[in-house]
Amino acid sequence: MLQISKCVYFDSAHQNRHKGGKYSQLHGHTFFAEIIAEGLLHTNYGWIVDFSEIKSSIIPIIDVLDHSYLNEIPGLEEDATIPAIKGWILGQIKEKPWWFKDIHIGIVGDLKFKPKRIPMKKHCSELWAFSFESAQSLPQLPDSHPCHSLHGHSYFVKACAKDMETLPKALKKIYDMLDHHWLNEILGLEKATSEVLTFWIVEKLREFNHSPKIVVVQETPSSYCIWREHE
Ligand SMILES: [Zn+2]
Repeated sequence: MLQISKCVYFDSAHQNRHKGGKYSQLHGHTFFAEIIAEGLLHTNYGWIVDFSEIKSSIIPIIDVLDHSYLNEIPGLEEDATIPAIKGWILGQIKEKPWWFKDIHIGIVGDLKFKPKRIPMKKHCSELWAFSFESAQSLPQLPDSHPCHSLHGHSYFVKACAKDMETLPKALKKIYDMLDHHWLNEILGLEKATSEVLTFWIVEKLREFNHSPKIVVVQETPSSYCIWREHE
């Protein structure tokens, strides 16, 4: 049997109160939803189903979750964990399309401090990379903007500093300040665009006696902000 899969993303905030610890704090993630389709090949088109049909059948449901605070959505108030989100999505699919097999929900971030050393490439310095999971809203934007409402991201950070050996220690301190937090509550991050967050990390590294050369903050898989030391 042949299967195909289509992945879509949603950026949301949640709290898992029953889990306790940092998981019960308001935080957020970039979630992925991988939709699995199964079936025989269409004799004419040579596919199981059009990828765009998979997307359009599930997107209206994902849109309810995207840029939201999951615990405010009816049915997810008490439990907004990954299995509950999956159950909620399945419950929203009124009539299952014939090709629908399953849906896998996950988080794009590492979910722990796992710094990776990225070796130097042709035009790019050596970097340390890590991810963290936070909630945020941008109150300075008009109500109609999706980022005005409470949501979350799996943020990816890359940094290069003069002393690359001790840099992960400073990055761990930054991780502990940001991970599983609501950024708006952190001094200097009340309006945390990627640009503001990038500057904030540069300043923190300096406070921790590092000389940053490059800091990159990636909020979604398709957008990032980069700061470079002026030479
Ligand atoms: Zn979470």
